[in-house]
Amino acid sequence: VMAGPCSVETLEQTVTTAKAVAAAGASILRGGAYKPSTSPYSFRGLGEPGLDILAEARTASGLPVITEVLTPTDVAVVAATADCLQIGARNMQNFALLDAVGEQRERPIVLKRGMSATIEEFLLAAEYILARGNPNVILCERGIRTFEKYTRNTFDISAIPLLKRLTHLPVIADPSHGTGKWYLVHPVALAAVAAGADGLIIEVHPNPDIALKDGYQSLTFDNFRALMAAVPAIARAVRGSAYAAV
Ligand code: PEP
Ligand code: MN
Repeated sequence: VMAGPCSVETLEQTVTTAKAVAAAGASILRGGAYKPSTSPYSFRGLGEPGLDILAEARTASGLPVITEVLTPTDVAVVAATADCLQIGARNMQNFALLDAVGEQRERPIVLKRGMSATIEEFLLAAEYILARGNPNVILCERGIRTFEKYTRNTFDISAIPLLKRLTHLPVIADPSHGTGKWYLVHPVALAAVAAGADGLIIEVHPNPDIALKDGYQSLTFDNFRALMAAVPAIARAVRGSAYAAV
């Protein structure tokens, strides 16, 4: 389970969150230093100072960190701090970026599904990274754009067993961006685990109401602890059967 804020905002916010999610059982800290934004007027991340904060949070919590890289020219600097690189939905078909993260072999890549990407396009994007020589790609279903407006995206639960059938790659789920509503994160996370997801990436914030980004889909520490308490029973219940079914 990867967990943490959408965006690195301050040292205190990031370290507090890192310690809380570690204590709840998360194994990786997430947090964006470079943020892709649909609007140029919304928060675009702290940049390099955000990477330094993530490094401090790693030391404080003992958790490895995952963070997003937006451009080929930033790959080296982000890979120098991050343990795992995230390619965001908006960059799933940024082929120069896919080449660049494929050419470095040191860091594994979490590749998020583009918001209008078919499964075939998603797999071919992963192939770009693999073809350049980095075998460590994790696929992330994070919801796709449909006509539905109550949710930010429509979480494609069937993508999880389908991707596991079509590839050997690990598949994780992001119910935070997949739903866009904090109260849908818990049930959809459990559904993803039941569908065979190998992991989860969850947005958590010390005070979601004042988050600079994605607060409405971020879990409080209490709600993250409740999710972590519920996951093991679902995972145990489907272990074997979720895979046997596909
Ligand atoms: C994120 O993880 O904060 C993010 C921007 O996700 P996505 O690329 O899936 O929209
Ligand atoms: Mn986010």
